[in-house]
Amino acid sequence: MTRPPRSPRLDAAAEEVARIAAAAPDWEFLAAAARPCVACPELAATRQHVVVGEVPAGGRPRFVLVGEAPGATEDETGRPFVGRSGALLDQLLAEAGLDRAQAAVLNVVKCRPPGNRTPKSPEVARCSGWLRRQLELLDPPVVVALGLSSAKWFLGPRTVLAQARGRAHDVDGRAVWATYHPSAAIRFGPNGAPRAGLLADLTAVAESLA
Ligand code: SF4
Repeated sequence: MTRPPRSPRLDAAAEEVARIAAAAPDWEFLAAAARPCVACPELAATRQHVVVGEVPAGGRPRFVLVGEAPGATEDETGRPFVGRSGALLDQLLAEAGLDRAQAAVLNVVKCRPPGNRTPKSPEVARCSGWLRRQLELLDPPVVVALGLSSAKWFLGPRTVLAQARGRAHDVDGRAVWATYHPSAAIRFGPNGAPRAGLLADLTAVAESLA
């Protein structure tokens, strides 16, 4: 069984996030605690919103989508996957036979990194407390990790996406699928390998849930 990597090195801010998150009894409490979070000074100074994530109305999600971090549109609106990547994700979910309304949509890091740079290791470590508790509270049977940062969070820092994708990994009793981020599918175009791979992986997830 693959276990999720523990945070690279917990600094005081990461420990504080983990302590507050672990004490959250439910989603609403956690969201309210996360919104004013300033554990990452650079991100807290430049973000418009902490994008906590979205959960389906009433009950446990059928599956959880976990991306890397909010982009510009997500930062403006406070909602995950609502920009171009979100539109493509919605389209491919529908083509695969999955309903976003049955999913929780989260990110590894909840504040937009300036210029959409990759989140730094301490930022991932600090934000991990929120994500870890979200997963405990939602208890999804299936997780889809979108992109390499998310795949590494679940499967370990040496994860190679091309090798990890295409099958479910057992992580703490959950089926974790790693696949391309929709932004890669946009970058490589409609005929590129990431779009086809993302659709194939989402279709496999749908079949596993059928
Ligand atoms: S990225 Fe996460 S840990 Fe860092 S300030 Fe935002 S919510 Fe807090």
